[in-house]
Amino acid sequence: MDLQTQLTYVKGVGPARAEMLESKGLRTVEDLLGYAPFRYEDRSNVKAIAKLAPGETATVIARVHIARSSRLQGRHMGMFEVTFADSSGGRLLGKWFHGGYLANVLVPGMQVALFGRMEYDSFTRGLQVLHPEFEIIPEDDDPEASVHMGRIVPVYEGVGKVTTRILRAVIHRCLTELPPAEDSLPASIAAKLKLPSYWQSLKDLHFPSGSEDLRTLNGFRSPAHWRLIFEEFFWLECGMVLKKLKARQARGIRFELNDRVREKIKAMLPFKPTGAQKRSLAEIARDMAAPQPMQRLLQGDVGSGKTLVAAEAAVIAIENGYQAALLAPTEILAQQHHFNLRPLFERIGYLSVLLTGSNTAKEKQHVKKLLASGVVPMAVGTHALLEEDVEFHKLGLVIIDEQHRFGVMQRLRIQQKGETPDVLVMTATPIPRTLALTMYGDLDISVIDELPPGRRGIKTLHVDEPRVEQAYAFIRQQIADGRQAYVVCPVIEESETQQMKAAEKTFEHLSQTVFPDLKVGLLHGRLKTEEKESVMAAFQRGDVQVLVSTTVIEVGVDVANATIMVIEQAERFGLAQLHQLRGRVGRGAHQSHCFLVTGKLSESAQERIRTMVDSNDGFYIAEMDLRLRGPGEFFGTKQSGLPALRIASIVRDRDILEIARGEAVAYVENPPSEDALQALVRHIQGHWQRRYGLVQVG
Ligand code: ADP
Ligand code: MG
Repeated sequence: MDLQTQLTYVKGVGPARAEMLESKGLRTVEDLLGYAPFRYEDRSNVKAIAKLAPGETATVIARVHIARSSRLQGRHMGMFEVTFADSSGGRLLGKWFHGGYLANVLVPGMQVALFGRMEYDSFTRGLQVLHPEFEIIPEDDDPEASVHMGRIVPVYEGVGKVTTRILRAVIHRCLTELPPAEDSLPASIAAKLKLPSYWQSLKDLHFPSGSEDLRTLNGFRSPAHWRLIFEEFFWLECGMVLKKLKARQARGIRFELNDRVREKIKAMLPFKPTGAQKRSLAEIARDMAAPQPMQRLLQGDVGSGKTLVAAEAAVIAIENGYQAALLAPTEILAQQHHFNLRPLFERIGYLSVLLTGSNTAKEKQHVKKLLASGVVPMAVGTHALLEEDVEFHKLGLVIIDEQHRFGVMQRLRIQQKGETPDVLVMTATPIPRTLALTMYGDLDISVIDELPPGRRGIKTLHVDEPRVEQAYAFIRQQIADGRQAYVVCPVIEESETQQMKAAEKTFEHLSQTVFPDLKVGLLHGRLKTEEKESVMAAFQRGDVQVLVSTTVIEVGVDVANATIMVIEQAERFGLAQLHQLRGRVGRGAHQSHCFLVTGKLSESAQERIRTMVDSNDGFYIAEMDLRLRGPGEFFGTKQSGLPALRIASIVRDRDILEIARGEAVAYVENPPSEDALQALVRHIQGHWQRRYGLVQVG
């Protein structure tokens, strides 16, 4: 057995368990040893039940004394109750709601380790614990009993039928039987940071010595934790830095930025760019003029004017005889971009085309011909642009909006339609630095941190559902003053059809009962493209005063005269999404308002609403969002391009990430020798490339 041995061949695993483990990405012994416990229990000195106090969270070793399913109607329906006893003579009541399935699991006489928060039960006047975690402890003839008892033990998240106990036994066996694995971290870094060796860290991660503090362990801050977290970030960041260096080595296009190009840009601009727009364009122009291909991320809050900067970049490419393409994640957004860019480009005599999935075959054919021949210099579109048979005459600049909705592969696909074109990625979700480092560590970053002049901060109010009429009254006033309003209906995860129905209901209520005298429009994802377009156009013209919509308007929609945003059941939305939606207003000179209408709030929903009411700052909101929901949920989409970190956490371990990034940059840019760098590249290719979606690091 060695680190690369498949788990199927490890004693105690076998094909069935190996398959379950595989579903969590655990394939080899090395993978398994990297599977960190989420918690530790001190079973070296377990507390007696008689000594427990209410409010205490503790581990108890006890026997099942009495077990019963409650068949009572009402409150106790389906409750499973167990009285536990230990040698101290104490009694502890464990309760599981809907716990009937446990009747065959926890039988009298059985020994278990229980973990949970002890409470005082006024009915029995004794201690109780609700839904404790538990682990069955076989009688003493288990030869490996000492692995599970009498020490600090690791507790793992079970994988299918592979319980924490099985994992503990198998991992213990691997650690005992394997020869120590070698370190792959550069020795200079390990020495400088005084890191324990890789093998020692693995052993301590799973079976810490008795002297380690339980809180330090559970906080993932033992020396072993620190080292393994650091290591995971270090390789990831090395991969990012290598990728960045490699991209810079390729020969790209050297765009010329002369007076003629500058004049052309000036002729296109409908208004004076803000300072932040100018700075971003300068950074982009510098990249474009350089011989290496640009790989830049343009971050800016909703409404900060990214589109204008993108248009300026396109002019540089087009004036140099190249084509530019803008890729957007949704049809509405692509349309919106097209709608915004076309008039800008018309002023300077450029043609632009829109290509999306809803073009007819004939239209597509026509558009493809225009692009392949080079007659049209600017293409805006959705995934349709990525299709095999879309060819460009001379693609020089690729602009990708809302990149996190696209995978890495898609980014590459559009790039391959040109010869090392420059790439500008735009995102309207301000990305906390830690996330930017892990997801976009290979890109240079420009930030538009200033809103166009004359904008006033949006006032945000929280409205309890029963008082929603007051918000409606306010809308009526604003509309009398000539403004317009959005009413956004709740997200319904399960289905788009349900979402559409909710929107239709709201539409009916508003158009017939609340605002029968006003023009109310309806927009949802199930409408045909022409219908969507005509509703949006009517709203843009001011012919529709209240637009009821699903979240399809989340990104990109831009109507300066709309000053009211009502978000129904706002508690159902994540922070990033609320901020995106709110960004649809506050785009003109008039004061804008956002109403967050909610029912009863959970604690975390309350926190989200409070954050929104308190702040208009996208970066602050993004930080809060990351903290509240964790990185996996941050973008609200599964396919976010986030690396699958094993032990490190972007939220918990940001301090270690910063250190790892620093060390990675220093090492890769200044390796002790060419051989050392090659060894590092090989290590990343062999161990980390696939998992982290890092393409072409070496
Ligand atoms: P983003 O894409 O960053 O959300 P947009 O590019 O859609 O923002 O711009 C938001 C609005 O601000 C648009 O109506 C745009 O025309 C306007 N705008 C952009 N830049 C300026 C500027 N420098 N001065 C005035 N208005 C601007
Ligand atoms: Mg925009």
